[in-house]
Amino acid sequence: MILLTPGPANTTEEVKRSLCVEDTCHRERAFCALLEKIRNDLVRLAGGLGSHEAVLFTGSGTCAVEAAIGRAVPPSGRLLVLCQGDYGKRMVEMSAILGVPCESLESRPDAALSLAALAEALATGRFTHLAIVHHETTTGLLNPLEEIAALAEEHGVALIVDAISSFGGRAIDLAETPVDLLIGSANKCLQGMPGLSFVIVRRAVLEQMDAWPARSFYTDLLGEFHAVRTTGQMRFTPAVQVAFALRRALAELEKETVEGRSARYSRNWSVLQSGMASAGFRKLLPDAIESRLLTTYRIPDHPGYAFEAHHDRLLDEGFVIYPGKPHAGPSFRLGNIGAIGESDIRAFLAANLRVLEALGVAPPLYATD
Ligand code: PLP
Repeated sequence: MILLTPGPANTTEEVKRSLCVEDTCHRERAFCALLEKIRNDLVRLAGGLGSHEAVLFTGSGTCAVEAAIGRAVPPSGRLLVLCQGDYGKRMVEMSAILGVPCESLESRPDAALSLAALAEALATGRFTHLAIVHHETTTGLLNPLEEIAALAEEHGVALIVDAISSFGGRAIDLAETPVDLLIGSANKCLQGMPGLSFVIVRRAVLEQMDAWPARSFYTDLLGEFHAVRTTGQMRFTPAVQVAFALRRALAELEKETVEGRSARYSRNWSVLQSGMASAGFRKLLPDAIESRLLTTYRIPDHPGYAFEAHHDRLLDEGFVIYPGKPHAGPSFRLGNIGAIGESDIRAFLAANLRVLEALGVAPPLYATD
C-alpha cells in the first residue's frame, strides 16, 4: 500500500521489523540509553546541540503541541497564533481550553503570509509568544521560517513552531534560526511509526518555566524534562516498540541526510505535479509557496467525478489518497513523503489514469477550462 497522505507515511521494511523486539522494561538502563540516543539525534538533526533539549511524549503530534503551548506561555503572557488552516486553528482552540491567553492572526490559507501584517501585530507589544505552523498541512503551504524567526527575535517574542509535517523533510537549523520550541512527531518525514512526539526546547526557556505552574499533568513539558534528567526515564509508560522503530528511522535519516531526503521528496513532488497536471488536475497553491511535501488539488467540476469513488478505486489499486480540509474548500490532498520514490509516484499516476478512465472522467475536469 502506498500512502499518498500527509502521514503516517510509508516506512522501510527495517523500520517495520524494528517493532518486533524482545519484551522490554522501559525503566531498565538499556531502554533509557535508547531514549537518550533518540533525544540526542533529534536535537542534532535540528542543529540545537548545546542550546536545546528534546523532550519526548507518548502521544501523537497534538500531544507535543499541547505540551509546548500549555507550558511555555506564563499566566501573565499572551500568545499570538498564526492561523492559515486547521492546525493553526487547533492551537487557538487548545489555548482556550488550557487557559492560555491567546489571540489569532488570520492569514489566507492559499496565499503567502504577509510578513508586514505579522510584524505589525508583533509591534503592538501585546504578545510574549508567537506560534506558527511551519508546513500548514491543511493546504501544503510552507512558511518562511527564517524570516518569521527573525521578526520574532526583533520583537523579543518567543517562537513556537509546529514542524510536525516538515521536520526531517525540510532542513531546519536552530543554530541559524532562533526557534524556542520546535514540535515534531515520529511518523511523518522522520519515517517512523505513530505514537511518539517531541518538543525541542531551548534550555534557557526550560529554566524560566519553574516560575509558573503546569496547566496539564500528562503534557507538562517541564515535569517530563525534570524526570528524564534525573532518572533517564520518561514519567509515564512510553510507546516502547515505537521508540525502537524511531531509533531505526533516525539512523536511516542520518544515512540519507535531511538534504538527501528533502531532495528525494522534491523529486517525488515534481513527478507527481507534472503527471497530475497532464491528467487535468488543478492545484490550490502556486508553486512558490508550496512545501513540495504535500499538494492540495481542487475537486474537479466534472459531472462524473466523486472523490469517494476516486479514493475507493485507487485503494483497490494499492494507493491511499487523502480528503481535503474545510479551510481549503472542495479539495483532496496528495502527499509525497515517506519511504517512496519516483517509481512509486509513476505507478500511482498510471493507476490514477486507469481509475479516471473507469469512472468516465476525462479532461476538461473544470468548468472554466
Ligand atoms: N500539526 C500539523 C502541522 C500536522 O500536520 C498534524 C497532523 O497531520 C498535526 C499537527 C496533528 O498531529 P497528530 O494528528 O499526530 O496529533
